Amino acid sequence: MFDKILIANRGEIALRVIRACREMGIASVAVHSTADADAMHVRMADETICIGPAPSSESYLSPAAIISACEVTGAQAIHPGYGFLSENARFVQMVEDHGLTFIGPTAEHIRVMGDKITAKDTMKALGVPCVPGSDGGVPDLETAKQVGRDIGYPVIIKATAGGGGRGMKVANSEAEMERAFQTARAEGKAAFGNDEVYIEKYLQRPRHIEIQVFGDGKGKAVHLGERDCSLQRRHQKVFEEAPGPCITPEERARIGKVCADAVAKINYTGAGTIEFLYEDGEFYFIEMNTRLQVEHPVTEAIFGVDLVREQIRVASGMDLSFGQDELEINGHAIEVRINAERLPTFAPCPGKITQYHAPGGLGVRMDSALYQGYSIPPYYDSLIGKLIVHGRDRNEALSRLDRALGELIVDGVDTTLPLFSALLQEKDIQTGNYSIHWLEKWLASKL
Ligand code: ADP
Repeated sequence: MFDKILIANRGEIALRVIRACREMGIASVAVHSTADADAMHVRMADETICIGPAPSSESYLSPAAIISACEVTGAQAIHPGYGFLSENARFVQMVEDHGLTFIGPTAEHIRVMGDKITAKDTMKALGVPCVPGSDGGVPDLETAKQVGRDIGYPVIIKATAGGGGRGMKVANSEAEMERAFQTARAEGKAAFGNDEVYIEKYLQRPRHIEIQVFGDGKGKAVHLGERDCSLQRRHQKVFEEAPGPCITPEERARIGKVCADAVAKINYTGAGTIEFLYEDGEFYFIEMNTRLQVEHPVTEAIFGVDLVREQIRVASGMDLSFGQDELEINGHAIEVRINAERLPTFAPCPGKITQYHAPGGLGVRMDSALYQGYSIPPYYDSLIGKLIVHGRDRNEALSRLDRALGELIVDGVDTTLPLFSALLQEKDIQTGNYSIHWLEKWLASKL
């Protein structure tokens, strides 16, 4: 087992990893930019090191700065969290070349899954069902129109290098194809330096269902059921729950096994998430994320496992600490993402926290790096906390969420909190009856 782990991240996820390290008796090293000198992850870690100025490109996204920090502090392994360098195959290769351990999959697995076309081809070959669409990349507008005619409109044009909801455009008819095709390409080029795109059938009212998988890198893998992350704004998740309100135990067992078998076959190491759209009882693969997800706590809650601890164990060469038959679902969990954003536009709202009080009690978990007097810097993601509740069933989880939201105080900046109290009043949320389009329609009707 490692003696010291460096966490190449900030915010709540850095705290999450520090907590796992502490429980395992492993020393933690926090890295930070000059803008984060007062951040909670810096206060909580055993050691800290400044790795550069405020812009992420010169600090949290700098492979050289992170690897030097490992060498200076003697950390043996790097936990990347999510975002930043967590899915950067070149960084992982550098880490390996420096004799350090990356807590996550191999550079090769990250590379394959990071390119959505290659990921889809790989998954198809492994027997995972995919959204119907173009056979790989679509080189020009003429081909795009042909694909549109073949699979039928509406279609979605997606940048192969896309992520975070960027590089995706819907075309409802051939007349809309040119614009959608060029925009998706331009976004892919601008945001990811790659203008290759592919086309999928645009599903009308699917749910976003994702399967948590975990591999030991030696050909063994398990699944930890699904999360329903259908409540999205601009393709970004806002509210997540596990298990999915519409997934039956039989469906879970079937798709879970397909996913576990697929990652076992490729000797996948560590945590991964296979994302699907789900419509009329069918699952359609859209992408795989080769890292810990923001919403991992809902899975931890219902299975009673610590996924970060498991990541660290597996990265050190140990076997999985649970087999498939030991993984049993207990109750229901919901997570809401709290962003420092001003409603109704969701414009980022950095600033000073004048008052902070976290909720508590049975079945309540608050993952946040906030504290009273903390100034949220304007340079990074607006996620400032995640409230996770766990109950014996979905109704108990919903009332617990309502109760916990009532206790939570975040003053000084605008947040997305009022959104959740309003959502809980909606019948569709109470019954779990929503697709990926529900939230945007609801938001539009409130304006
Ligand atoms: P990203 O990598 O940017 O997160 P994904 O491929 O995971 O992109 O898709 C994000 C979201 O976009 C999905 O959860 C879903 O809401 C929507 N989406 C993606 N593909 C389709 C599709 N074929 N039909 C309908 N919606 C889609």
